[in-house]
Amino acid sequence: MRPSKIGHKKTMKKLFYTLFLSACLPNALLAQAYFQQEVNYTIQVKLDDVKSEFTAEEKIEYINNSPTTLTFIYMHLWPNAYKDNSTPMAQLMLASGNTSFYYSKENDRGFMDQIDFKINDQTAKWELLKDTIDICKLYLNEPLKSGDKIIITTPFHVKIPSGKISRMGHIGQSYQITQWYPKPAVYDRNGWNYIPYLNQGEFYSEFGSFDVSITVPKNYVLGATGDMVDGEKELEWLDQKVKETEAITTFDSKDLSFPSSSPETKTLRFKQSNVHDFAWFCDKRYHVLKGEIETPHTKHKVTTWVMFTNAEGYLWKNSIQYMNDAVYYYSQWNGDYPYNNCTAVDGTISAGGGMEYPNITVIGTSGNAFQLDVVITHEVGHNWFYGMLGSNERSHAWMDEGMNSFNENRYIETKYPEKKLIGRFADGKIGKWFDLSQYKHKSEYELAYLISAAKNEDQPIELPAYKYTELNYGGDVYSKTAVVFDYLMAYLGEEKMDKAMQAYFNEWHFKHPLPEDFRKSMEKSTGKDLSWFFDGMIKSTKKLDYKITFAHHHPDGTWDLGIKNKGQINGPLFIQGIKNKQVVGEVVYDGFNNKKTLTFPVSEIDFFKIDFGEEMPEINRNNNKIKTKGIFKKVEPIKFQFLGSLDNPNKTQLFWMPVAGWNNYNKWMFGLALYNNLIPQKKFEFELMPMYSCGTNDLSGYGRITYTISPEQGLQHLTFGITGSRFAYSNAPFNMNFNKIAPELNIEFKKSELNSPYRLRLKVRNIMIIKDSYKGNYEFTPPIYVKEPLTNNFSDLTFSLSKYHAIQPADISLNFQGGQKMIKASITAHYSYKYKEKNKGFEARFFAGSFINTTTADAGAYRFRLSGQTGSQDYLYDNIYLGRSESEGVLSNQFTDTDGAFKYYSPLGQSSTWITALNLKSSLGNMKLPINLFADLGTTGTGLTNDKFLYDAGICISLKKNFFEIYFPILLSQDFIDYKKANDLKYAETIRFTLNLNLMNPFDLIRNFKL
Ligand SMILES: [Zn+2]
Repeated sequence: MRPSKIGHKKTMKKLFYTLFLSACLPNALLAQAYFQQEVNYTIQVKLDDVKSEFTAEEKIEYINNSPTTLTFIYMHLWPNAYKDNSTPMAQLMLASGNTSFYYSKENDRGFMDQIDFKINDQTAKWELLKDTIDICKLYLNEPLKSGDKIIITTPFHVKIPSGKISRMGHIGQSYQITQWYPKPAVYDRNGWNYIPYLNQGEFYSEFGSFDVSITVPKNYVLGATGDMVDGEKELEWLDQKVKETEAITTFDSKDLSFPSSSPETKTLRFKQSNVHDFAWFCDKRYHVLKGEIETPHTKHKVTTWVMFTNAEGYLWKNSIQYMNDAVYYYSQWNGDYPYNNCTAVDGTISAGGGMEYPNITVIGTSGNAFQLDVVITHEVGHNWFYGMLGSNERSHAWMDEGMNSFNENRYIETKYPEKKLIGRFADGKIGKWFDLSQYKHKSEYELAYLISAAKNEDQPIELPAYKYTELNYGGDVYSKTAVVFDYLMAYLGEEKMDKAMQAYFNEWHFKHPLPEDFRKSMEKSTGKDLSWFFDGMIKSTKKLDYKITFAHHHPDGTWDLGIKNKGQINGPLFIQGIKNKQVVGEVVYDGFNNKKTLTFPVSEIDFFKIDFGEEMPEINRNNNKIKTKGIFKKVEPIKFQFLGSLDNPNKTQLFWMPVAGWNNYNKWMFGLALYNNLIPQKKFEFELMPMYSCGTNDLSGYGRITYTISPEQGLQHLTFGITGSRFAYSNAPFNMNFNKIAPELNIEFKKSELNSPYRLRLKVRNIMIIKDSYKGNYEFTPPIYVKEPLTNNFSDLTFSLSKYHAIQPADISLNFQGGQKMIKASITAHYSYKYKEKNKGFEARFFAGSFINTTTADAGAYRFRLSGQTGSQDYLYDNIYLGRSESEGVLSNQFTDTDGAFKYYSPLGQSSTWITALNLKSSLGNMKLPINLFADLGTTGTGLTNDKFLYDAGICISLKKNFFEIYFPILLSQDFIDYKKANDLKYAETIRFTLNLNLMNPFDLIRNFKL
């Protein structure tokens, strides 16, 4: 499979998922001699394209080559994965935030039924696994001894799910029939490998032969695994289709209508041996092209086919070339393609950009010719890494996806050597403007790995597929594997690499290699100890980072180079010497730990660089270079860059952009944002935003500096930081500023599993507010005001635990605050339930707070407030208000939903002792308008309403959820009504709004934009 776009998926939090799949992980290694079972299938299947279902008869010949006597066989009934929300597929999709299946209509779901297993013609007992209805246990009537065989037969019926869910399905009358028949699980050296169908995580199946007869209405074009048997008439018909397709000059991409089905049917029969799966695809709209390619080593002739609709016909018309190139290059590097046919079909699948099956692959929407070539090549390439080298994809996904991605990258570098990261934009204005023209295409794989690795949030390449976060499944399994294999090839040289891969292929094709088998094969054929590769790169998240510390020139013309291994892997290193921008010397050194002085033989050098060719997966390339002359031998020139760029180790990057802001006192502010933090994340990051205030003719702005440590153990991240800000908060009697300085410590605790949905964090801050105040001498008219600074200090500690869930997210946090006049504690909890429609659902919030130090209970400005905080009540200056000190007018109605978070404002319910409140919000059913109902209920220990329950309720217009929301009160408790009357408030004055301008922080905006 190929993800639709590697590394471009949004960062995802994942629900911890307790898979009950002990069986899919190798049990204690039994250390048995290698064996493999043989399973041969004969299936007759008939498609009903009116009801989108099929019925079939299946005969399985099962040959027990294991040394064990079997009394039962696990059978996969994978179409049942689409049956209901209880299946592992449904649960894992939901856990990863994908609610499409969870909320799908009954008609879009699918299942398998009418199973009636017979063994050697005798009815057999079987049962579905509890909680895993896509696996069953089939009891053998008699024990199956080693070397014996049985015949299993069953009819079956499948309702085909919507093709929008996962790999099997139909979109209208376009059919993608995959993982569709009852199939024995693999029994191997590790025992039974029964695995539920999953979206993230692929398969493992026994080798054998297939003889499949498929009946469809006559006008369907059908592609399948294997060679057509007795198919002269059909092949003639396909050749006619090829002629018609070749004659088309423009494909009408808007015409995707289905012609009506012929009343007559046809039965096509396909046979193939030495495969472990069979898939078929049919569509009445398909255009067909056909080609031929001779394999490089054995000169075996392979017929290549492509079948496609009008949708991207303009791209597919050239795709036979991609098929031929893919078959040719993969054969050349890994060993020849032995089958007679290789087909790619155009289909709309939801599991990714494409999906592989033996001899046939299905490709999603591509968008451009390069992408189509790459996806076709990747999927065709799976005929080697999965098809012939039948590793366990669920447990060792790197052995198929990763090794295949390495070949995919090699294909791109061979066929498109000039290809850059941002493609055709690289050498244009965009590439130059954003300083991206130097990045090779391979950077796509490197970045996908580095985004997680830079934060130590990467995962070892060798893990079961379902343990990965979605980001790491792409970034580690696919991309890191591609990059580290490329590194291995740079070390061994292409010739040795090819020999080693071919030796592996020769030894293990049509078999089930384990990681140890691959390692043994590689070490044997290269004659090298590859511990650094297998133990370091594959099995761990250890990082590679060499640093160059000095360069001493000897009179004999050679150099001594000081190298320090700052990483944890002693992989080989490449050092290049550069003179006049040309590489004049290159040495490959075997890796080492700690420090070493290396000899470099070339005399005339301007600078040395570790990995000038960028072939090593270095976590930090900023310490790879040393100049031979000058004072600042390791400092790179500063590069000012508008908006941002990728990390460029050859430059000291400083990003900038113009910024503007407004509040009632500073009026318009204009300035510059300066920052160094884009991707990947850096340890030391800063963001500075000095602005000139037109209202006060003074400096205002914001800044933040952080240093982040991401240790391997104990903590996920530890960030030391300091935040500062300065803005005006009043213009009367003269312009007055507040200055805030807040050093802080943020800790994110290590998750039990990286894809766990729970996040535990601790934040400790010291907040110092120095604000302008004044003293007035009222003996004079007008009075004379004298400026006086006022300093206030607070400590603030928050523990928070959040649980990510696509439907029911929740969090709870505990806060302690201390200042000169108070110590208080509070607890805030959120729970929400989302309905099917976006942003629809209900939310509940609970708050309880209490002063701890009751002797200073009269905490004045720091009281808990049932009505949340207005600008003047935000004593920590944590939120941004348009009119912080306003007491009337529209600006005074901005509030923050802290404390009691009542939407109705009243000074009632301020408390110097304790407070508790419940806030509810619910969307109104299916209405398109962003209208919510809200209700608040609460009480306080002191204040005017001592111990009375107060409430409000009304309508909330949510212009942007959690950003800009307006509250119209409708129902108020009697105290509020009395207060309103007493103060003669008009209705308009009681409408309040939240405007969370912290979300408008330009640094956050650009950070969130980048992925
Ligand atoms: Zn793949």
